[in-house]
Amino acid sequence: MWQEISRIGKKLVLYGLASAHFGNLSIRKGKKFLITARGGLLDELDRKSIVEVSLNEMPDTRASAETIVHQRIYQTLPVAAIIHTHSLFAVIQSMISKRKTLLLEDCESKYFLKEIPIVTGEPGTSDLADKCTQALKKGRGDHRKAVLVQGHGTFAVGKNLTEAYVTVSSIEQACKIKYFTDLYGYLRKNCSCEEEKFKRRKK
Ligand SMILES: [Zn+2]
Repeated sequence: MWQEISRIGKKLVLYGLASAHFGNLSIRKGKKFLITARGGLLDELDRKSIVEVSLNEMPDTRASAETIVHQRIYQTLPVAAIIHTHSLFAVIQSMISKRKTLLLEDCESKYFLKEIPIVTGEPGTSDLADKCTQALKKGRGDHRKAVLVQGHGTFAVGKNLTEAYVTVSSIEQACKIKYFTDLYGYLRKNCSCEEEKFKRRKK
């Protein structure tokens, strides 16, 4: 199982979804789960970088600082894997968005991601664990694919790490598209160059 965590950790760094040790991954294993250790470099994970944690006991201090969030999600929702990343554009959108959900504007995101809530909270706290879990819950045993934490990053869940990885990747893509389309809109409206002035006069 640690090999799968290591494989996805490498992909997260390779595709710019996480860097250094800014993120954590876990997989459910019966009444326990495996999670990356505190400070482990995501593209160099090996057997020693993974810690086993019980679903109902205080986590080992070697485990990631966000273990409490993973634990609460596993206790509450029927998911088998969780990925948390400080992905650049997801963090930016979580900070500039005035809404409680991420505004998805491209067709793939609308279809695939549906609704991604944004919550606030201090890293590694029980308060954040509760808020993330409640935001992911949809009722009748159903759940959302991910939640964004304001100024912090993405928590994506899935039936395996690949599914959670695809969600992390889709959210980053959606946030990137929104960032650049918003920037383009702003520049068109405010640009003082002759070409844009001419286009505005023609309207
Ligand atoms: Zn974090």
